[in-house]
Amino acid sequence: MLAKSRVEPMEPGERTTPEEGADAPHWLVDAMLGRLARYLRFLGHDTEYARGLEDDEIGLRALREGRALLTRDRELATRTPGAFLLRTVRISEQLAEVRRAFPGFSYQVAFDRCPECNASLVRWGGTPEQGEALGIPPRTLADGRPIFECRACSRRFWDGSHTERIRALVADSLGGATP
Ligand SMILES: [Zn+2]
Repeated sequence: MLAKSRVEPMEPGERTTPEEGADAPHWLVDAMLGRLARYLRFLGHDTEYARGLEDDEIGLRALREGRALLTRDRELATRTPGAFLLRTVRISEQLAEVRRAFPGFSYQVAFDRCPECNASLVRWGGTPEQGEALGIPPRTLADGRPIFECRACSRRFWDGSHTERIRALVADSLGGATP
């Protein structure tokens, strides 16, 4: 049973009252917002993705795990304490919206959390031969660039053209959020 239901439906850009103030970002991102979930993980934010859950399960999970729900579903947001109702569709605008609503968190690209599964990343310590066998580009290995590995799903990540695009998008969207 979800407590603290509001009488009036909320408007986009509004937050429901959280149970208590959070000092670190813990999100539950609604289905259909998978790209936002990945970007929040790039920022190092603890972000679970609610794919495949019914609305009641989503609300309960947010409460049970102390997560702020990010959603575009007005009805779900209205009856979930601590939810934020997103107004926009584009990822850069959604990041800006989240930062405006939750200004106390870091919005710098961190690469300490797996964008695919949310587990923490550790420095990969294999040899160049092992790296090549795993499909890591020889140039990346030769550069001595740090390579990170997910503790849970074993995917590997390193800075390259893909991450440059991510950094640029984050910088662009958050630059645009400054009043
Ligand atoms: Zn992973």
